[in-house]
Amino acid sequence: MGEPALDAVIARHGRDLVVAEARAALAEIRQALGSDDPLAMDDIVTTVAARVDRAARPPLVRVFNLTGTVLHTNLGRAPLPEEAIAAAAAAARGAANLEYDLSGGKRGDRDRHVEAWLCRLTGAEAATVVNNNAAAVLLVLNSLALRKQVPVSRGELIEIGGSFRLPDIMARAGCKLVEVGTTNRTHLADYGDAIGPRTGLVMKVHTSNYAIEGFTAEVGEDRLAVLARERGLPLVVDLGSGTLVDLAAHGLPHEATAAETLARGADLVTFSGDKMLGGPQAGIIAGRADLIARIKRNPMKRALRPDKMTLAALAAVLRLYGDPDRLAERLPTLRLLTRPQADIRAVAERLRPALAKALAEGAEVAIIDCQSQIGSGALPVARLASAALAIRPTGGRRGAGRALERLAAAFRGLPVPVIGRIADGRLCLDLRCMDDEAAFVAQLAKLNLGAGTRV
Ligand SMILES: *Cc1c(COP(=O)(O)O)cnc(C)c1O
Repeated sequence: MGEPALDAVIARHGRDLVVAEARAALAEIRQALGSDDPLAMDDIVTTVAARVDRAARPPLVRVFNLTGTVLHTNLGRAPLPEEAIAAAAAAARGAANLEYDLSGGKRGDRDRHVEAWLCRLTGAEAATVVNNNAAAVLLVLNSLALRKQVPVSRGELIEIGGSFRLPDIMARAGCKLVEVGTTNRTHLADYGDAIGPRTGLVMKVHTSNYAIEGFTAEVGEDRLAVLARERGLPLVVDLGSGTLVDLAAHGLPHEATAAETLARGADLVTFSGDKMLGGPQAGIIAGRADLIARIKRNPMKRALRPDKMTLAALAAVLRLYGDPDRLAERLPTLRLLTRPQADIRAVAERLRPALAKALAEGAEVAIIDCQSQIGSGALPVARLASAALAIRPTGGRRGAGRALERLAAAFRGLPVPVIGRIADGRLCLDLRCMDDEAAFVAQLAKLNLGAGTRV
């Protein structure tokens, strides 16, 4: 191109990208100008450089999750502990003994890296891992109940955000869903009546993101396990979030652990790696060894298996569970969920002056108490006392909604986008997950309240 300024852009991003963006920029500029207007080289260079920068920007970037939902599915759920990040990076860098048995010098099994820990932490005989819990449910159903019937309580026919709907997964797995009981009440006899010669397994599903309250009845795993065993059928429990420790010991509401559910008689449990467990996206299947063996023989397992980075990260996270006394310090998910409100309020006190200064006359900033939620279908009704910076645009009531939207967009437009929540005419930044105050403050000078859109 011979233009020194563009040569620098080419050196950074490569000729192909610059040429493509230059063509597009020229077409754009020509359209904007009259056909006789001269093209100014400076304008062209600036436009091309800006376009190339935009095109070369990584699409997936770090954000500040100040939504008040700790395990936010749209924001990537659990933050990983440093041990897991290091393990994933080391595995990514080159060859690894992913499916290679170093002692025997022959082919190995990728589940081996996590299976012993999963068994130790859940009391299961065997375990296997797939890409996420939706895959775990799909694989269990397809392996154990293909072309067979699966009774599920009508109170448990869940939809999880992002289009996981149990009836649809059932159909795709090749199983026939048999609805049992009613929305609010299901009894043991309802299951008993639904089981017949074509039943493949009995399934119970954690009602992750809602609670049925009032005149209700459900059948616990213990009683359901007795019935399933009498009829010679496996009992599968989809725990959804799943947890490996007693959350009550950490001041959170108790949630049945994988170990408790298996001890109560479930033959298999399925749960996510990146919800309460606090690890990478993964789906864990744990329980009876003969059933796990059948699942591993299903060709679909090959299509749903996780990669070496996931397994390395998951193994590192599971190891942290081996030292429960220090878990809340070392596992970011648990640390965030148990962060005391006073601590979060102190963050708000520290950040408020810088934020008020950056917003100047444009908005008022107050510190308010608020409630965070766990998210991702763990303990759907539990709320955690938290604190937030509440930003209210100044000015009249007219256009207040627009002003709020512009404000939220300005925060999203920062170099490390800040995602808050709009409530009661304010933009609330719940500080429970604020993990880098210096970076937050440093970028406030770039807050563009005028434009309000990310360019
Ligand atoms: C979250 C959830 C799933 C889906 O898990 P992913 O890991 O998101 O695939 C399935 N079942 C229940 C009950 C859940 O809560």
